[in-house]
Amino acid sequence: MTVVPVSNEASPLAPHWLSLPQDQSRLEPKLWAEDVERGTDGVLRIDGVSVADLAAEYGTPLFVMSERDFRSRAATFRDAFDDAFRDLCGGVDVFYAGKSFLCTEVAHWVREEGLGLDTCSGGELAVALRAGMPGSRLGLHGNNKSAAEITRAIDADLGRIVVDSLQEVALVGDLAVQRGRRANVMLRLTPGVHASTHEFIATAHEDQKFGLSLTTEQGPGQAAGEDASPAARAVADALAHPGINLLGVHCHIGSQIFESEGFELAAQRLLGFLAEVRDRHGVELAELDLGGGYGIAYTEEDEPRPAAEIARAMASVVGSTCRELGLQVPRISIEPGRAIVGPTTFTLYTAGTTKTVRVDAAANGSEELQDTSVTHPRRYVSVDGGMSDNARPVLYGADYSAVLASRTPEAAPVLSRVVGKHCESGDIVVRDVYLPEDTGAGDLLAVPGTGAYCWVLSSNYNYLTRPPVVAVADGRARLIVRGETEEDLFRRDVEREPASHDPASPTPEPGAPRTA
Ligand SMILES: *Cc1c(COP(=O)(O)O)cnc(C)c1O
Repeated sequence: MTVVPVSNEASPLAPHWLSLPQDQSRLEPKLWAEDVERGTDGVLRIDGVSVADLAAEYGTPLFVMSERDFRSRAATFRDAFDDAFRDLCGGVDVFYAGKSFLCTEVAHWVREEGLGLDTCSGGELAVALRAGMPGSRLGLHGNNKSAAEITRAIDADLGRIVVDSLQEVALVGDLAVQRGRRANVMLRLTPGVHASTHEFIATAHEDQKFGLSLTTEQGPGQAAGEDASPAARAVADALAHPGINLLGVHCHIGSQIFESEGFELAAQRLLGFLAEVRDRHGVELAELDLGGGYGIAYTEEDEPRPAAEIARAMASVVGSTCRELGLQVPRISIEPGRAIVGPTTFTLYTAGTTKTVRVDAAANGSEELQDTSVTHPRRYVSVDGGMSDNARPVLYGADYSAVLASRTPEAAPVLSRVVGKHCESGDIVVRDVYLPEDTGAGDLLAVPGTGAYCWVLSSNYNYLTRPPVVAVADGRARLIVRGETEEDLFRRDVEREPASHDPASPTPEPGAPRTA
């Protein structure tokens, strides 16, 4: 059996998009916050703050967020869409999708940058209100909102409750009447457009839990009088309900989208629907929300388009479609989450155990590797976190990248897999990346692009504590969410009652919660 040694050559096990790095010190700009760079000592710095200092002060794993980068991405979306749509409808309302990352401090930034904020639960709404977001700039989503969540939204006079079903039209309307108010409502419609990364598909029927279909139901089980689509019936119900102020319609067609075609087709279908509403009810609804889903770069393979480009393409389609339909252009809103927060953050880990395995063609499944007698090295580098701080590789098969962050990478690059410390073989942080072959215990690794859908999805699996989040701005790091401690792990445990009749029962440990 031939064993191919570790060498300065591309590995045949590497995915097609991963190239052997020519300069391992280089940071690919599209993956990182704008103020991250490698110092002359080889240590990564964010706005001048060394990651070695951050690790020493806050420990690892650590989410490191650039405040300046967050604010500038938020402002870029705000301004790019405003510019593109100004002549058509006076501008665009940008609602940051809080589900991608939310804590009180970040909600403050969103408020200060003049954006709106979308929430999808009572908990997210509570965070936004705690940060002083005015109700008028908040939205509430969800396919199964509770009466308590809806009531809270009505009492906070939310700018928009995005209603997801026919039952919810009645529920929101009735609750608003009970509170002596009118709820601001948008209807979430399913335009039959699904977009993801490099393609989109257009269908008439929707097979998913969200939203009201634009398609008329046909077939057995259709009740008499249900000849209109669920979307059309929801509009009729909402317009007739004294508790509802119907603002317009909404859609969200997917996530991690790089091209504007899907957004354009969805806009055309929804504008067509608004023209039908006008013809049937004599009402031109004032607002159209085109959702979020703008893609970011997780690896060198991804090429996101600038927000301004997508905004111009969308504005052009909205303008021409409205002209064809003789519609006044509705006020447009969008809901980016990932594209604002994703690239602002990297996760800092400390490496520990490493091992190198030899992989042959049969194990890899690659057609190019027919010769199973030749094996190739894959190096496993374990870090001190994993699926509890980044569930996306496990949930979605998501790819990330990583760099050696605490010193200059000098040894030859070897195809590596960064794995977590959980008791799951699927606990992968970065499936394929070239790292210097001497990467090992004590080295810091930084994984960029972890701002969205990582910390918010973090868990205590295997009783790991959830990591802190630090924000860096003006050359200073500041804790914005503290990490959990072992004490936090026991906070919700219900202590056993001491058996009072038992003189042998031990006295509680100092610091243990006292029983009443
Ligand atoms: C998740 C979600 C978003 C944000 O999606 P991103 O991919 O993070 O931009 C926006 N709107 C709705 C309704 C969502 O569910």
